[in-house]
This record gives sequence, C-alpha cells and structure tokens, in this order.
Amino acid sequence: MNAAVVPDTLHFSVTQMKTWLMCPAKFSYRYITGAEPEFVPMPLAFGSAFHLALAHHYQWLMRGEPAPAEEVKQRFVDAMMLAKNGPVPLQEDDDGTGFDVALAKGLSMLDVTLGHPSATPAKVLGVEVPFTVDLYNASTGELLDEKLKGVIDLIVEEDGHRVLVEHKTSAKKYSLDQLVYDTQLSGYAFAAEQLKWGEVGLRFSVTTKTKVPAMQVEDVRRDDGDMSDFLKTALGVLTAIDAGVSFPVRGWACKGCPYRARCESER
Ligand code: SF4
Repeated sequence: MNAAVVPDTLHFSVTQMKTWLMCPAKFSYRYITGAEPEFVPMPLAFGSAFHLALAHHYQWLMRGEPAPAEEVKQRFVDAMMLAKNGPVPLQEDDDGTGFDVALAKGLSMLDVTLGHPSATPAKVLGVEVPFTVDLYNASTGELLDEKLKGVIDLIVEEDGHRVLVEHKTSAKKYSLDQLVYDTQLSGYAFAAEQLKWGEVGLRFSVTTKTKVPAMQVEDVRRDDGDMSDFLKTALGVLTAIDAGVSFPVRGWACKGCPYRARCESER
C-alpha cells in the first residue's frame, strides 16, 4: 500500500475507520489532503477535555490515592479554555448552547462520573494505554502492511483479569445496537487478543449530556464473529482508501463537519 495514502506511517485507527465509514470525503479532507478545518467541533473539544480530566483522576488512583475532585475539574476547564483560545475557532454546540453552558455541563457530568462506584476501581492497571498490533486478512491470514494503532482509555483489574474501559460522553444513553456493534471495543478486543492478554472484560462507561447527567456502565462481549467482522471492515476500508475511493455522504453529520464549506464549494 502507498504510504502517502494511509497516513501516520501505515498506522490505522478505529477512529479513522469510523470516519471513513461515516463519510469518505471527510476522511480525505482530514487524513489525506490535510485540509484546514474551519472550526473545532464543540463535541470533539468537550469529549477530549472530559477524557483528559478522567485520565488525571485514574492516574492518581493508579498511584494509590484519589485525586482532589477540584483538580480533576480544573483539568477539564483548562482543556476547554485551550480549545477556546486555540488557533482554530471553537464551534458552538449542536443545540446552539455556548461555551459557558458546555463548561457547566461538563463539570456537572464530572460530578456524576466521579461519584459513581465504577470511578473507584480496586486496581488501576493503566490509563491511556497505547497499543500497536498487526492487521491481517481474515480469509487468507495474510498480514496487511498497516498496523492497528490505538489507545485504551483505562485498564482495571477485576477477579484477576484485565477489564478494558472505554469512556464516552453522549447526548443520551447508548442503545443496545451501539453496545453490541460499536467498533471501538471490537478494536480493543482484537488488540487484546493479538497481545495475548488472555480473557479480558470490555466495558463502556457512558456519561450522558442529558439535563440531569447519568452514568451508564455496561459490560459487553465481542466473539470470534465480531473479530472477523472487524478485520473484514478494516480490510475493506483500507482497500477502498488505497484505491482512492472518496465520495461525500450528506446527512446529519454535515452540520458539525469542519470541512463543510469546502465540501459544499466542490459540489
Ligand atoms: S460536509 Fe458532509 S459530505 Fe461533506 S465532508 Fe463533511 S460530512 Fe462529508
């Protein structure tokens, strides 16, 4: 495969895969042509800031002591301020609410998240744990040039096993379909298998952005069929990218797309 086509020295992430599946044109702007984004989507800045704050919390726990809640919240505020004052303007949220509302919402969501029993696991094994594993053709076993690269939000130990946790902020609770089919945890499960971690648990920890934030902590499973689907999807997407396949998929996501003006101008 042409290294110029798949960026980041032949590394491929679940985020890239999801981006291409949602809109190949957006993938091209972001990862191939490197187009300048018109703005930073508020949900993206919000989610990143929330993850940073939670990572701080769990890094303290990994060292054996709870982080001061105010310090965790300050991490969130600092990251949001950085996004607000960055070189690319920050977009307002989908529903038109402004920065201050998003800030207040994030702080109340942190209260709910940190107050949930799942936020104080008995043993934290890792926070923001990077991995790089081989990808292969599920039918032939042939190794692909690209490797799967990712970062696991949190790894805790329960009953002698690793549990891989994915943190999400979401407008509402995850549906059964999201829990069953979301490829992020399929990617984690595949990585764990390649790394020979043995039996691992998989967990979504979702904090909702609802008026009264709520926690949804769900343990899920991924079986051999899911692994096969994951590999077929990765291979299909990589083959399409290598062949230069790109087309716009217009829909609800266009509203929050940072390449919208350029995409519209190229119609
Ligand atoms: S504006 Fe819509 S169609 Fe165009 S790149 Fe963005 S998501 Fe895709």
